[in-house]
Amino acid sequence: MEAQDIYEAHRAYLRRFAEAEIKPFSAIVDEEARFPTESIAAIRKLDLPGLAFPAAFGGGDGDLMAQVLAVEEIARVCACTAHLMLTSWVAIMPLVVAGSAELKEHIVPQVAAGRAQASFCLTEPGGGSDVAGIRTVGEPTAGGWRLNGAKRFISNAGVADWYAVLARNATCGFGIFMVHRDDPGISFGRAERKMGMRGSPLADVLFDDCFVPEGRVVGDPTAGYATMMDILTYSRPLIAAHGLGIAQGALDETIAYTSQRMQFGQPLSRFQMIRGMVADMMAEVEAARSLLYRCVAIAGKNDERARAFASMAKLLCTNAAMSITTNAVQLHGGYGYIVDYPVERMMRDAKVTQIWEGTNQIQQLLIAKHAFSPFESQDS
Ligand SMILES: Cc1cc2nc3c(=O)[nH]c(=O)nc-3n(C[C@H](O)[C@H](O)[C@H](O)COP(=O)(O)OP(=O)(O)OC[C@H]3O[C@@H](n4cnc5c(N)ncnc54)[C@H](O)[C@@H]3O)c2cc1C
Repeated sequence: MEAQDIYEAHRAYLRRFAEAEIKPFSAIVDEEARFPTESIAAIRKLDLPGLAFPAAFGGGDGDLMAQVLAVEEIARVCACTAHLMLTSWVAIMPLVVAGSAELKEHIVPQVAAGRAQASFCLTEPGGGSDVAGIRTVGEPTAGGWRLNGAKRFISNAGVADWYAVLARNATCGFGIFMVHRDDPGISFGRAERKMGMRGSPLADVLFDDCFVPEGRVVGDPTAGYATMMDILTYSRPLIAAHGLGIAQGALDETIAYTSQRMQFGQPLSRFQMIRGMVADMMAEVEAARSLLYRCVAIAGKNDERARAFASMAKLLCTNAAMSITTNAVQLHGGYGYIVDYPVERMMRDAKVTQIWEGTNQIQQLLIAKHAFSPFESQDS
C-alpha cells in the first residue's frame, strides 16, 4: 500500500469513529461547559493519546501526518476533544525531545496510555506574545528547584496531571520543569468562562515556592527556551490542523443544510450566489490543507524553512476556520445563530485558533522575519 493510501485509510477510519463516538457529545459538552469525559474515554479506546509518542514509551509512533489527520478529523466534530488530545502531546514533546531517559520512562507511558494528561505552560498574566519576557522563576535549592510565579490561560489546568512549565532560570537562561498536580506549592485559579471551547478547561496555574526535584528538569536547565521554540514548530501544524478540522466541519454542515433548505420553491443550493460562496469556501479549505501538508512534508528534515512554514500553515488554516465558520452561519440564515445548529458552536470555537499558540500577528512577524532574513542581520 502507498503511503498516501495508508493516510487516506487512516482518515476514513477516524472520520467514522469521530462521527459515531465523539460527535454525539459535542453539543452537550459545549452547552454544559464541562469536560468531554465520554469523548476522552473514546479516544483512549483507540490509543490516540499515545499516537504522537515513540513505541519505546508505549506510544503509537505516529508521524506528524498521522497526528495532523487525527486532529483534523476529531476537530471536525468536536474542537474541544481534539484540543485536549493535542495539548497532552505538545506538553510532553519537550520531554521526549530533550529529557533524560529516567524522566521519560517515568512520565511518557502514563500519558501515552491516557492514564495521565498534560498541560503546556508558557503564557503569563504579563503577556503571551513576548515569551522571552516571562517572569516565573526557578531557583536552585538543595535537591532541586523552587518555582515561583503564575501562568495564565492554561488549557487543561487542574485536570492535567503533568505541567511542562517554562521558567526563567534564576542563574542563567530558561528551564523546562515537569511539575505534578500534587506537588506542594502548585495551585489553580478559577475556571475561566469562555466564548467558545467551553469543554476545554482553562485556568491560571500558580507556583508558590513549589519544589521540583532535580530529576524533573527537562534536559539542560539553561536551554529550555530554544527547546520550547522548536516545540512550537512541531505544535503549530497541529494547531493548524485543529483550525482546518473546524473549517471542514462547518463546510460539510453548510453543504448539507443548503441542499435541503427550501426558499422560493427550490433548495438554497440551486441559487448561483450560494453555489459561488460554497465554492469559495471549499477552495479556501483545500488551499489551507495543501499548505499544511507541504509544511508537514518539510517538518523534521532540518529544512531552514520549517519554522516559517509552520507559521504560514497556522496563519492560513486558522484564518480559514474563522472565515468559513462565519460564512457557514450566514448560509444557515437565522438558524445559524441558534445553538441547535453546530455551526453556531463552530464559529465560537474557531475564534481562539487565531489567538493561541502565538497570535496570527506573531505568525506574520515570524513569516516576515524569514522572508527578509537574507537582507537583515540576525540581531535586527
Ligand atoms: C482558550 C485559550 C487557551 C489557551 N491555552 C494555552 C495553553 O495551554 N498554554 C499557554 O501557555 N497559553 C495558552 N493560551 C494563551 C495564548 O497562547 C495567549 O493568549 C496568546 O499567546 C496571546 O497572548 P496574550 O493573551 O497575552 O496577548 P498579548 O500578547 O497581550 O497580545 C494582544 C494583542 O497584541 C498583538 N501583539 C502582541 N505583540 C505584538 C507585536 N510585536 N506586533 C504586533 N502585534 C502584537 C497580539 O497579536 C494580540 O492581538 C490560551 C489562550 C486561550 C484564550
